[in-house]
Amino acid sequence: MMELPYAPPLTRRTLADPVIPEPPRRGDPGGEPCGVCPGEDGPHTIWSDDNWILNHGVETSLAGAVWLATRVHVDSFADLDSALAQDFGVLSGRIDRALLALPDVARTHVYRWGDGGAHFHVWYLPRPLGMVQAQKMMLPLWEEVLPRASDEAISDAKRRIADCLTNEGPVRAREQPWDGAS
Ligand SMILES: [Zn+2]
Repeated sequence: MMELPYAPPLTRRTLADPVIPEPPRRGDPGGEPCGVCPGEDGPHTIWSDDNWILNHGVETSLAGAVWLATRVHVDSFADLDSALAQDFGVLSGRIDRALLALPDVARTHVYRWGDGGAHFHVWYLPRPLGMVQAQKMMLPLWEEVLPRASDEAISDAKRRIADCLTNEGPVRAREQPWDGAS
């Protein structure tokens, strides 16, 4: 059964008044600089191609916690053109397979909030096998409080994920636009 990583007594907060206009996010006009632009590979990049970058999380308790970002600065799913949207589906399947192939992973969780930065990015978290307390929305909370994964575990996960994605070949393998017939 899923559980918060905190024990009672917890008290329910009062919902605050709406903050309108909302404060700018990183990468929004008037906000701090975008944390992803200029959309280049960095020290935590596991895999990339002409359009996408896959990075491993920093200071995470979950080896294999990765985030996928576009190279181009677009905000949300609503802003992806058809080619990027198709890529996203293909890549999500590949990342899911790569995470499920890690040792002792039960499920791949996919999170897209868009509340922190204005540059399109989606998180994929491996939910450890048997960690039923961390089901559903509890996993990011547990990720915050559990000890940081070891460098060895993170390095191993990065290598395994990179190998999986590389072995699956180019994301856009089709020469012709996909017509859904095959
Ligand atoms: Zn950006």
